Amino acid sequence: MPYRLNPRPPQSDVDLHLRLLNQNREWSARMLRERPELFSELAKHQSPFALWIGCSDSRVPPNELTGTMPGDLFVHRNVANMVVHTDMNMLSVLEFAVGALGIHHVIVCGHYGCGGVKAALGDPGYGLVDNWVRRIRDVYRLHRDELDSIDEIEARLARLVELNVAEQVYDLSRTSVLRTAWEAGRHVQVHGWVYGLRDGLLKDLGVTRTRYEAEVGPPPATRSGPVSG
Ligand SMILES: [Zn+2]
Repeated sequence: MPYRLNPRPPQSDVDLHLRLLNQNREWSARMLRERPELFSELAKHQSPFALWIGCSDSRVPPNELTGTMPGDLFVHRNVANMVVHTDMNMLSVLEFAVGALGIHHVIVCGHYGCGGVKAALGDPGYGLVDNWVRRIRDVYRLHRDELDSIDEIEARLARLVELNVAEQVYDLSRTSVLRTAWEAGRHVQVHGWVYGLRDGLLKDLGVTRTRYEAEVGPPPATRSGPVSG
């Protein structure tokens, strides 16, 4: 079976690495039968059609759930699909994807039941990830009225997952990489999606951004002299 060890070994299986290497050989042979030209084409260059920024969760594999192949998606994953403006890893991926690869679609994809989002809802105590998901607590604070009005905790968590994706799309639209691309007339779309672990379906949140929007207006024209306070 593709992409799945069968039978599934326990996590403590000391020979797991050997099983993976075996499966790789089987996969490579099958791909060569089904798409004889694939590897030779991909060895020359890549021209993916989208950048995927998703959660590290093992249950949300971007290629499989979008029915795409190696070479189709440029991928960046971290806990809770965060867009952090000081994250040089994410920014480097974004710059290369948009600038060098010429990608026109960037997808931020969260998922319901996200452990990272759940960690941000609870008391700190998970370790380093508490720092990483700190920004999700700000997302909660931004939308506290709506979230606190949802009594059922799972439903509240699901809504926070959606709002977190929307906020990451917004933060992505504030990056200098996208601003530069948009101001140069590039048609780059930034989408926000959420994946359902229970049904395997992607939901488009309808928060797509296609241009740079000024965050704050110019300073008041009537202001003169230094502002005290
Ligand atoms: Zn997650």
